[in-house]
Amino acid sequence: MEEYDAVVVGGGCAGTSAAFFLKEYRPDMNVLLIDRLDGKRFDFYHRMCGEAVSEDAFRELRPLRAEHVVHDINFVEERWPGGVVMGIRHRGYIVDRPRLLRSIQDRFLSRGGVLERDAALSVRRENGRYLIGCSSGRTIASRFLIGADGVNSRVRRDVFGTEPPMVIWTEQYIVEKDVPGNKIVFIQGERYNGGYRWEFPAGKHARIGFPRGTDIVQEEIVEKHRRAIPTGGLERIAEGRCYLVGDAAAMPNPLTFGGIRTAMLSGRKAAEAILWDDPGMYEGWWRSSMFSHPCFMQAFNRFAGLSDAAYAESARVFGNGNLPLSFLKAMFLYPQYRDLYLAYVRSAIVGW
Ligand SMILES: Cc1cc2nc3c(=O)[nH]c(=O)nc-3n(C[C@H](O)[C@H](O)[C@H](O)COP(=O)(O)OP(=O)(O)OC[C@H]3O[C@@H](n4cnc5c(N)ncnc54)[C@H](O)[C@@H]3O)c2cc1C
Repeated sequence: MEEYDAVVVGGGCAGTSAAFFLKEYRPDMNVLLIDRLDGKRFDFYHRMCGEAVSEDAFRELRPLRAEHVVHDINFVEERWPGGVVMGIRHRGYIVDRPRLLRSIQDRFLSRGGVLERDAALSVRRENGRYLIGCSSGRTIASRFLIGADGVNSRVRRDVFGTEPPMVIWTEQYIVEKDVPGNKIVFIQGERYNGGYRWEFPAGKHARIGFPRGTDIVQEEIVEKHRRAIPTGGLERIAEGRCYLVGDAAAMPNPLTFGGIRTAMLSGRKAAEAILWDDPGMYEGWWRSSMFSHPCFMQAFNRFAGLSDAAYAESARVFGNGNLPLSFLKAMFLYPQYRDLYLAYVRSAIVGW
């Protein structure tokens, strides 16, 4: 039976980051990264699941940096019912995600890591080791295991026996459209059931998405896909020497749908915890981090119950461009929406 010090299941943002940092911290460690997809299927999967990453994210991920940047972003535009348009300065990037992941995987390989195409079909613990049964027919043994296998994580199901508290199904399109300016656009309203519609520049095209069945696109469609965003966090994300990271741990923020940053950062944090063989350190990081604050889920549920009139009322004072002043006014004039304003401020501080 093949034996490794650490196996990472899933080579997306979370798993690629975890594998990279494991070899960065412990070059002597024997690390295997497996993904069920490779080549064009891997590229398609990752092209269709989000590519907007903030500058802050890469600050936390050094020595990794924003590579394969397709667009610089310096502005987030929010359009609310009632005609309110808010602009928030926020620096970030639209990256070519498959190429970014490959470039990090190359650095992992150059440090002696092993990357293979294979799918984990079953996981169990025996005599202090994790045994991973794969679609290739082999069984791999490992001292440490990282589950980075996304929303339907096999590692989560077999080792933790849990499911994400909430899964938001979305549809995303690449369309013939120009999104002018270095900005990303979010459109809010009751039709999005607590979520929103996003419009990002995507090379010569635009990327448009929304919760499934809530809207349509008028533009000519180049590509279309349906995808799930797991959110709400889990009660446990470390068990023995097994760690869940990224979507496998339901880490995306329900208010922003941002999950790339927490995926990559959790990969790094899991690698750090493995370095010290301290799963409590990883659990502690997540519990105390602003990313896991319950206000985001509460705000999502509140938004899901708001009418367009209530959206418009809650945003009325934000039309004048001075956000800090508008925030103070709103807290005073509309106490019924204070929880939403605070969640929004927290979300702006945390970023995406
Ligand atoms: C439509 C959409 C748009 C989004 N937009 C953004 C955005 O703009 N910015 C942002 O920050 N976040 C965005 N998100 C969220 C973000 O994409 C995810 O949170 C992020 O991709 C999570 O990364 P991950 O590595 O945990 O999981 P994934 O990206 O899902 O990667 C999981 C990997 O595991 C592999 N895998 C799965 N099962 C197995 C198995 N059994 N064995 C081996 N390999 C397996 C898969 O092939 C895949 O490569 C978006 C999500 C969606 C759905």
